[in-house]
Amino acid sequence: MTEIAIQNDRLVELFTTLCRINSPPREERAVVEYVKGFLRGLGLELREDNAAHAVGGNANNLVATLPANIAGAPRIFFSAHFDTVEPNPNLNIIIQDGVIRTDGTSILGADDKAGMSAILEAIRIVVENNLPHGQIQLLLTVCEEIGLRGARALDLSLVDSDFGFVYDTGPPIGTVITQTPTHDTMHVRLIGKPAHAGVEPEKGISAIQMAARAISQMKLGRIDAETTANIGSIRGGQATNVVCPEVVVAAEARSLNRQKVEAQVAHMTQLFEQAAQEFGGQAIIEIDRHYEGYTLTENDLPVQVVRRALSRIGLDAPMRPTGGGSDANIFIARGLPCCVVGTAHQKIHTHEEFVLIDDLARSVDLTLAIIQEVAAMR
Ligand code: ZN
Ligand code: CA
Repeated sequence: MTEIAIQNDRLVELFTTLCRINSPPREERAVVEYVKGFLRGLGLELREDNAAHAVGGNANNLVATLPANIAGAPRIFFSAHFDTVEPNPNLNIIIQDGVIRTDGTSILGADDKAGMSAILEAIRIVVENNLPHGQIQLLLTVCEEIGLRGARALDLSLVDSDFGFVYDTGPPIGTVITQTPTHDTMHVRLIGKPAHAGVEPEKGISAIQMAARAISQMKLGRIDAETTANIGSIRGGQATNVVCPEVVVAAEARSLNRQKVEAQVAHMTQLFEQAAQEFGGQAIIEIDRHYEGYTLTENDLPVQVVRRALSRIGLDAPMRPTGGGSDANIFIARGLPCCVVGTAHQKIHTHEEFVLIDDLARSVDLTLAIIQEVAAMR
């Protein structure tokens, strides 16, 4: 089945068409409609959930199902996200020497439309050629770029898959992400007391001094090989003649080891609370598990399938950890086994974002090989 030639022209057409539909987070409706039309034409069953409400956007997650045409194969899913990190309404695509990029004034949107187009093209080839396959679902999400919110809101009652593949990291095609950190965020309000700074400063409590006391004693930056921590922003204060009554600090900690991230957050919490106590103020701290980390090995089924599919088409790709999260973190935490798979997008989140047409085609090839591997698991 992987001998079926990928038609580069229509693949490029599909990819660039998706890129040209402006779809920043919360405004994915147009691209969702396009993809629905594409998949409806191929005969997939389409279901939307109610994620738009939860994320405050104009579009829901889309769950598309291609029923099996053979019995006994595992049910799998492929996933990509509709939203791009920023808008690109004036996208000017340049295709030259096998490279697709922009004119440098906007993102391309290849993150994640490279992943999505590989999945859609593979499904088109499977349907057109009536290739043997088990049940395949597409979990296509909104609002990935603003905190994996679509995946968090995904209605799991629509999902009926044994395991899957999240197409949302860069080349080499078929790279498997084996480990991501657990990521906690902290929202800290330090509350002091206002007073006239010239007349009666002794009646005030400076939230700025409280913050300074806490942060100056804090372990930050690179904590160890697995762990990082950062104060990202600090806001507060109005005028030089007022003892600052309130400061808001935003911070984060990440670690490949969950105990370590929790220890780091506890360390930071303790210093804020201690400083508040010393100054007679208050610390109100909200801790949010932004996402749960995971560790995968060659023994995990989705990883095995990708590795076998790669060798089936004569490709090799690394297995590596990463410092960031993706929808896979949410899926795994919610009980849907999966792994992140390398697709064609490069220099993401920049105006130099590009893809190689060869990589797009390889990504389709890999997708077909995965489908073939899974079909052989009967
Ligand atoms: Zn992405
Ligand atoms: Ca991204």
